[in-house]
Amino acid sequence: MIDSSAFQGKKAAYYTLGCKLNFSETSTFARLLQEMGVREAAKGETADLCLVNTCSVTEVADHKCRQAIHRMIRSNPGAFVVVTGCYAQLKPEHISAMDGVDLVLGANEKANLISILSERWSAVGNASDGHLHEHYSVKTKDINSFAPSCSRGNRTRYFLKVQDGCDYFCTYCTIPYARGFSRNPTIASLVGQAEQAVADGGKEIVLTGVNIGDFGKTTGETFLGLVKALDGVEGIHRYRISSIEPDLLTDELIDYCAQSRSFMPHFHIPLQSGSDTVLKLMHRHYDCSLFAGKIKRIKEVMPHAFIGVDVMVGSRGETPECFDETYAFLAGLDVSQLHVFPYSERPGTSALSIPYVVEEPEKKRRSRLLLDLSDRKFHDFYSRFVGSEAEVLFEKAKRGRAMHGFTRNYIRVELSPNDSLPELDNQLIKVRLGDFNHDNTSLKATLL
Ligand code: SF4
Repeated sequence: MIDSSAFQGKKAAYYTLGCKLNFSETSTFARLLQEMGVREAAKGETADLCLVNTCSVTEVADHKCRQAIHRMIRSNPGAFVVVTGCYAQLKPEHISAMDGVDLVLGANEKANLISILSERWSAVGNASDGHLHEHYSVKTKDINSFAPSCSRGNRTRYFLKVQDGCDYFCTYCTIPYARGFSRNPTIASLVGQAEQAVADGGKEIVLTGVNIGDFGKTTGETFLGLVKALDGVEGIHRYRISSIEPDLLTDELIDYCAQSRSFMPHFHIPLQSGSDTVLKLMHRHYDCSLFAGKIKRIKEVMPHAFIGVDVMVGSRGETPECFDETYAFLAGLDVSQLHVFPYSERPGTSALSIPYVVEEPEKKRRSRLLLDLSDRKFHDFYSRFVGSEAEVLFEKAKRGRAMHGFTRNYIRVELSPNDSLPELDNQLIKVRLGDFNHDNTSLKATLL
């Protein structure tokens, strides 16, 4: 039984590190707490509850998490401090020992935040230094809870978590250890969440997860089945798939998106390396030729599609020849943007047994080369649409400031401050696309 009186009138501060999934989960925690009577602390107010949702994708991320926890504790003296997320799952003892930390909730326990909080909140007074220093986490193989989450990111776009965990165990990655094996809720429950988003005024939903294409392991359903069911939810005009592994992006799915009512011509696909040698070392589930085939298929049926690609540089085993192959492969690929990540060593990963190591300055050089290539691809892609008409979903802007929004194929669009009227917020509007804006991040647009 949850005692809601313990929550009434309390103020909370939230801090999120890492991916869209984390941000979406934090907003859900905030909503659940709000329903219990906890409001978000205003700027300058001291919070009674601090929640830090952590990431552990790199060593730097771990360091940032520790800094964020210290900062939260310093600026909210006496607050009850909860830490969750991937770093919390991987290093629970370490975090719970930090001065000022009360609860560390691993991947399985975060779904029970409210009940654990209600139970433990009252126990704080008994702790010797006023803090509990407790941690709850289970072994990776026992992580089986699914914390549902559908949250409004920037007031316009919703993030719907459709899947969690991963069974792939790529050699450089700790995510399966931090989030557990692949699991998902039912299609029916996700359709229900999408319908609720419509009722709250939502028009666009981004589907998030760790390995989305693997959807269905728990329920015997398929990702394509989910896509078809969501396509039928009236009122949602746009869906985007946040990221999908190339081997799970089936031709059937691509073809379905091409003729669907609401799935946008926009894909984000992790490549990681354009060298088959490196892909093998990474234990990825495809080779370059499969990847190139997917891009070709998308472009055949959706010539205007925006395609973002993740690439990791300087991974163990990436010799100069392997990097040259990657560069040449990407240079010849009709994609719109590269998301470049320098490889970072993670304790416990099998990549550490690969002897060939790339030095930091060389990693930086390779990143730079790929980022320059990305800038050119981005510019080329946007340039193709200058002068054309497009439909844009606009997002709220501060009074007197330029409004921004995205076209169906993910081109960021900027309206002049004069045209940026508050009533355009969250509306689908026809525009004509003009030239690049001042910092080349958007195309300027005029209303039609
Ligand atoms: S697919 Fe590979 S990189 Fe992605 S979460 Fe799973 S193990 Fe990590």
